[in-house]
Amino acid sequence: MSLVRDEVEIRELVSSMVGGYLPTMDEMEFLLSLDWEGAQVLLEGARKVKEELFGPEVHIRGIIEFSSHCSGRCLYCGLRADNRDLARYRMEEEEIVRCAEEAIGAGYMSLVLQSGEDGWYDRWTLGRVIERIKGIKDVAITLSIGERSYEDYRYLRQAGADRFLMKHETADQGLYDRLHPHSSFRRRLECLTQLKELGYQVGSGFMVGLPGQTLRSIARDVLLLKKLDVDMAGIGPFVPHPRTPLGDQPAGDPFLVLKTVALARLLLRRPHLPATTALGVLDRRMRDWAFHGGANVVMQKLEPHRYRRLYDIYPKGVGEERSIAEEREELERALESMGLRVARDRGDAVRV
Ligand code: SAH
Repeated sequence: MSLVRDEVEIRELVSSMVGGYLPTMDEMEFLLSLDWEGAQVLLEGARKVKEELFGPEVHIRGIIEFSSHCSGRCLYCGLRADNRDLARYRMEEEEIVRCAEEAIGAGYMSLVLQSGEDGWYDRWTLGRVIERIKGIKDVAITLSIGERSYEDYRYLRQAGADRFLMKHETADQGLYDRLHPHSSFRRRLECLTQLKELGYQVGSGFMVGLPGQTLRSIARDVLLLKKLDVDMAGIGPFVPHPRTPLGDQPAGDPFLVLKTVALARLLLRRPHLPATTALGVLDRRMRDWAFHGGANVVMQKLEPHRYRRLYDIYPKGVGEERSIAEEREELERALESMGLRVARDRGDAVRV
């Protein structure tokens, strides 16, 4: 196939997707395999869809990683219970609320509470944390605390949690079950269904570059997000952690993540799509590019730096220690210098 023919084909395909066409599996694989030049058309298309929905606005979400204790055994994650080399921490109720209060003072309207699978925090403790934060201001509260009972999810929703983040990690059931010896793909989907039923705004997502994953399987990941009709979708690279069974595997390709985010924007349209932290860790420029190819959200860690070092999902730098307000200001300046506008509202789910 000649280069000219290729380019015409990419343009036609992308412009019909901008108009709402649902591509075939082969077409999705073709888009995910584009080189840098070919991918520009894909990124432009995704950017167009994003700007029609959100204009130049990006949302900053603050994330409080409040516990690194985890009973899970995810083969890729440094927090897995089997990693005995890691010093673990738990933030006290009071400490979480104070961190949230400082963030609210710095302008955050959307807070994520994330942890390993840590049963030490029962539903009443978490419920109190949510109620106390809501008492300061009606910011959006997102939970990312993994698999829990239906009763827990129901209680926490009633306590005021607005959203829940639970990535499906991979839509390849066989791969999922191998990577998660303590759970199953079926259970993960069951949780996602329950969360939707309870009226949470639901975020899911997956990793790109998991060992054994193919382009076709990534296309299926995007289709699963469509089927789940998610409000948010986090798509990030797999980053090997040396103290895990996958420590010697190669990292996910940041450029492939970029193309996947663009494909997701074209196919899913309305969900909030972060330029993920993991993407920034591997390649800061690719993370910035993601804003020009469909992403409209960025997450900023809020917990004290001594904890950030220990929230060791994958290897990363933690940077120099500054206040929550200073870090937010710096992030805002960086986003604005890219021609983006920082949203001042909660950034609830968009219904189109
Ligand atoms: N325990 C919660 C939160 C998990 S940590 C839950 O089960 O939902 C949040 C996310 O970090 C995970 O969903 C996973 O997608 C990501 N993650 C974990 N280890 C990773 C790694 N090595 N590389 C990239 N992402 C990773």
